[in-house]
Amino acid sequence: MQEKNRELSIVIPVYNEEKNLTPLHAQLKSITETLTERCEVIFVDDGSNDDSFSILEKLHRQDSHVKVIQFRKNFGKAAALSAGFAQARGKIIITMDADLQDDPREIPNFIHKLEESYDLVCGWRSKRQDPFSKILPSRVFNYLTSTLTGVKVHDFNCGFKCYRKEVVKNLSLYGELHRYVPALAHWQGFKITEIKVKHHPRAHGKSKYGASRLFSGLTDLLTVMFMTKYMKKPLHLFGGVGFLLFLAGFMINVYLAILWFLGQGIGNRPLLLLGVLLMLVGFQIVSTGLIGEMIVSVRHKGEVGYIIKKILE
Ligand code: UDP
Ligand code: MG
Repeated sequence: MQEKNRELSIVIPVYNEEKNLTPLHAQLKSITETLTERCEVIFVDDGSNDDSFSILEKLHRQDSHVKVIQFRKNFGKAAALSAGFAQARGKIIITMDADLQDDPREIPNFIHKLEESYDLVCGWRSKRQDPFSKILPSRVFNYLTSTLTGVKVHDFNCGFKCYRKEVVKNLSLYGELHRYVPALAHWQGFKITEIKVKHHPRAHGKSKYGASRLFSGLTDLLTVMFMTKYMKKPLHLFGGVGFLLFLAGFMINVYLAILWFLGQGIGNRPLLLLGVLLMLVGFQIVSTGLIGEMIVSVRHKGEVGYIIKKILE
């Protein structure tokens, strides 16, 4: 039998989406009315400079299920999701974009999938309605992320996802980390799956993410790799890189030692300097990066990374 009256929280990051909010709210309402779960919709206005907030205020006045968080400035989608998660009371949390590209009619499908004992269900926009200039870098991104993290998800960056509460309460999102939610959750031991979702072209407003931002987000992959694979065991990385460099230097030195035994002078060989230098520099670059990454992530534990101006509950 289906559990009744579990609360569902729908978290929606909003950045300059004035034309989309009223139709989105109407679509959501017609779906949530058919659900057995009690619902709350949490809009997080990520520092919009159009009319988004006043429209959200209006929706809040009309509909007691609507909550609104307003940021002081644009802190980014990851921060917006994070603030929404902190406010969410539901046992199940749905995230979706505010731009009408995600279809609220998929919400029941997400919940059914979650009930098959998963902790996180990711949307997969198998027929993505975006320009090719976005789809191509996204394919590259997904391929790289999936290969490097070992998480078999087709569409990491899909904003449409369904979580159990435990997952969001343990996620710490900042920077562009929202793209790596499946990897982060997987690393924490949560069970993940995906479902195909319908995707519509953006009707109003502009996309905030161009191809360039997608590529710049790739540097975050390094962060995720550090945090998920090496944070708890930096020696695996230090050891691996250190060993390889040591080996290269060792082989150069063995070669030079043989020459020396054969009676050749090696003191003036540039190779000697090169081997030692490469070894030290390579090692230091990697270890500095790793330590920096660890400091950021430890420091981040105490900070939320956004400032709320107003909450309408
Ligand atoms: N968004 C946000 N803060 C930002 C950028 C985007 O809250 O700094 C929201 C945006 O309003 C939308 C969602 O994140 O609801 C996805 O953004 P967008 O549709 O522009 O990305 P795309 O679908 O084109 O990748
Ligand atoms: Mg979009």
